Amino acid sequence: MKIPELLAPAGNMEKLEIAINYGADAVYLGGEEFSLRRLADNFTIDGLAHAVQYAHERGKKVYLAANIFPHNADIGTFGDYLRKVASIPFDAYIVSDPGVMDMVREVSPDREVHLSTQANTTNWRSALFWKRQGVSRVNLAREMSLADIAETRERSGVEVEVFVHGAMCISYSGRCLLSGVMAGRDANRGECAHPCRWGYSIVEEKRPGQFFPVMEDGRGAFIFNSKDLCLLEYLPELIEAGVDSLKIEGRMKGIHYVASVVRVYREALDSYREDPGKFEVKKEWLSELGKISHRGYTGGFLLGRPGEDALEAVAGYVRSHEIVGVVSDVLENGEAVIEIRNRVTSGDVVEFIGKNMSSQFFVMSKMTAHNGAGDGILAVAHPNQLVRMRLSFPVERYDLLRREKKQPD
Ligand code: SF4
Repeated sequence: MKIPELLAPAGNMEKLEIAINYGADAVYLGGEEFSLRRLADNFTIDGLAHAVQYAHERGKKVYLAANIFPHNADIGTFGDYLRKVASIPFDAYIVSDPGVMDMVREVSPDREVHLSTQANTTNWRSALFWKRQGVSRVNLAREMSLADIAETRERSGVEVEVFVHGAMCISYSGRCLLSGVMAGRDANRGECAHPCRWGYSIVEEKRPGQFFPVMEDGRGAFIFNSKDLCLLEYLPELIEAGVDSLKIEGRMKGIHYVASVVRVYREALDSYREDPGKFEVKKEWLSELGKISHRGYTGGFLLGRPGEDALEAVAGYVRSHEIVGVVSDVLENGEAVIEIRNRVTSGDVVEFIGKNMSSQFFVMSKMTAHNGAGDGILAVAHPNQLVRMRLSFPVERYDLLRREKKQPD
């Protein structure tokens, strides 16, 4: 039995380290130019070299997203960029555009090329076509059903990668003009402003400025606003369909999202590997996925065309928890050094989470400033402050502290 690779987003070096330490087999990332998440932190050329070294030392792979659709004016600078990164030993390019594929072939003829979901591969003939062009893996369109995925894997013989978790586009696998038209930001060049999440009304032509509400429910209408994808419960079917890589969306998402999603899918895959016959989705996995910022979950197109319940009826996210800090070191005397990310007060109840689904609740107490900023006990710690604390249980670097978020009345 082959367990698929777990492929996680790495929007910056910290997210990459967290993804790898929480159990990802591979990460995908973008350079500062020419990836489809230009508004993410992204990696400088030196940063990319460091990231690849870090991942390879731990036996993990790195794929470089070069999945923009460049225009003629971009070709020269894009070629320069590709030549600059060519000496870095990342494991594959992710491309969408045939011209880009040609260019990466020129600068790195032996490197693997993965086809991005933006290329909209929805059938086995298309996958076979790309295989004949030298593509070693195809990320299938999110619009495919389980039966189509299995048939495509079998008949094309090319590796297939499938999104299992994260945001969905209402358009065809990301090819969307909404943002370009409504916000002047081209989604196909990595600048999406997410207008599909906005609320919409009707305006009668002769009465400009008067907005007639379209009511799906008491909160308005969010007619393009997809829920997020979650295929956790279909892992056995995806594995049996021969899927080679399970991809988590979200290079713009925070470290809490990366840690939680990776640790849930890691444990689920390991549990299936141990005993496929006894595999069942644990309540704690679903509960964990409910604690990250999300829009409600849907199985997307996996079992057929999604109905109205795949649309979310509010613009915002479900945000029940927030990050408080990250364990950045554990000292020889056993004290944990914590980098604070959100204001925390002595007496606040926080949860420490780590790899292997570890979880410990703790009442914050006896925080002291780290690095010589006084030895007194702190009543409050602020974002970016480093504090030391003694805990009654073991922690590791990259463990996260989170707490329940106060909901507005
Ligand atoms: S506007 Fe929405 S559907 Fe269009 S690319 Fe952006 S996220 Fe996707």
